[in-house]
Amino acid sequence: MTTTVSNDTASLLPSVSSFLSSPRQLLIDGEWVDAQDGRTFATLNPATEEELVQVAQGSAADVDRAVAAARRAFEAGSPWARMTPRERSHLLWRIGDLVEAHADELAQLEALDNGKRVEAARDGDVATTAELFRYFAGWATKIEGTTIPMSVPDRDFHAYTRREPIGVVAGIVPWNFPLLMAAFKIIPAITAGNTVILKPAEQTPLTALRLGELLLEAGVPAGVVNVVPGFGDTGAALVDHHGVDKVAFTGSTEVGKKIAAAASGNLKKVSLELGGKAPNIIFDDADIDAAIAGAVLGGYFNEGQCCVNGSRLYVHRAVFDEVVEGVANAARAIRVGSGFDPSTDMGPLVSQEQHEKVLGYIRSALADGAEVTAGSADRVGERGYFVQPTLITSVTEDMAVQTDEIFGPVVTAIPFDSEDEVVAAANNTVYGLAAGVWSKDIGRAHRVGGRLRAGTVWLNTWHADDVTLPRGGFKQSGWGRELGAFGLDDYTELKTVIAELR
Ligand code: ADP
Repeated sequence: MTTTVSNDTASLLPSVSSFLSSPRQLLIDGEWVDAQDGRTFATLNPATEEELVQVAQGSAADVDRAVAAARRAFEAGSPWARMTPRERSHLLWRIGDLVEAHADELAQLEALDNGKRVEAARDGDVATTAELFRYFAGWATKIEGTTIPMSVPDRDFHAYTRREPIGVVAGIVPWNFPLLMAAFKIIPAITAGNTVILKPAEQTPLTALRLGELLLEAGVPAGVVNVVPGFGDTGAALVDHHGVDKVAFTGSTEVGKKIAAAASGNLKKVSLELGGKAPNIIFDDADIDAAIAGAVLGGYFNEGQCCVNGSRLYVHRAVFDEVVEGVANAARAIRVGSGFDPSTDMGPLVSQEQHEKVLGYIRSALADGAEVTAGSADRVGERGYFVQPTLITSVTEDMAVQTDEIFGPVVTAIPFDSEDEVVAAANNTVYGLAAGVWSKDIGRAHRVGGRLRAGTVWLNTWHADDVTLPRGGFKQSGWGRELGAFGLDDYTELKTVIAELR
């Protein structure tokens, strides 16, 4: 498989070139500022391994400044606290329009920084971000409480609940959907009236910074959303900070556990969307062509760097060879290349670290005696973090390639004979983010779906999604749910008010 890495800069929009022409700063209190100690770091283009731009690196001192700004912006009497729900709603809608108006620019920035295809970024990440602003614009005026009866003889009470913002929210996000993950944290938080400090991933800070500019342009008051790029220590400074009331984190289970422990200092609220290793179960009564297409999409979507990807295929023995051949052929046909080349199906992985990790897992599978049916443990091309989509067979449940979240285009396939056997195998993981079942037997599909311990279950489909749908993990895949009608619960405190009517 050949890989072409075009020189991307020729096709860049003037606004993107201009954004990359000078070092990017931190957004604190409505101002663009350097890090207090002046430090910066380089963000790279994973297709070329070249530096895109230097970005200010937030330290604990910058986190302090951002938390103080977010606290001031939250306090009673501030412009933000005085904004009515309807005004917040209109503001959110305006931001959605601005995101849409800048879709091409945001998509190019995302493709440069993360490696994904420009079209995928525009039609997926950016379009969904715009829709999320609009969806939550609707919720801003509907954060309601209830009235609750009390049974006290001879006295009269009026008891009701209110849902109030929690306060200062730290959003810490990964690099696989940089803009969208920023949106997942910022949007529900500000819909409910909180203020935010966002810490983008060190690999992909650019679209969050551009979003920060758009938020100011839309009229978000100073300090309501602060953006402080940096590494894990910047995130840790936020998690440790006693001025932060809640941490909303998406990332690895390993870091999620550290955050849960570190958050205990002031018992800040924590919501976590963590790793996954989703089982994708194909029965012999499935629509096999659809199941193969679903396995390919589910396995290789977003360069395999998606926590709800179906990375463990379980295929009924009667159709195992047919499905493996279909998935392998499709994997071989995937064109790997620059996200700016229109003929590319799959871009590079995000970083050298991820590249080495993923190739290392494929090598470990070979060393363990598994078979690489499609793909390879060799790097693709001389520059850039490319990997050929890989399908691994002759796998056993104890192999690292089967137990660990790889976060790359690597899918394993194991045959099964019975429903009980496959349910047990599918649930034999510390993760519980997503799962899927392919069967034309509607009873079986729902029955097996009901037995799978995962926050999202797809039946005869994969990656079907909407901003209206809640998501999150069972087991070590996380705490809490994001988006949909449940998505505001984690960003509000419930207050019960009891009045005696004298
Ligand atoms: P991935 O494995 O997908 O790179 P990580 O969980 O390592 O994901 O990182 C996700 C986000 O968490 C990034 O923004 C990263 O900088 C941040 N991070 C890493 N370590 C810590 C930590 N100890 N505390 C808070 N945030 C952290």
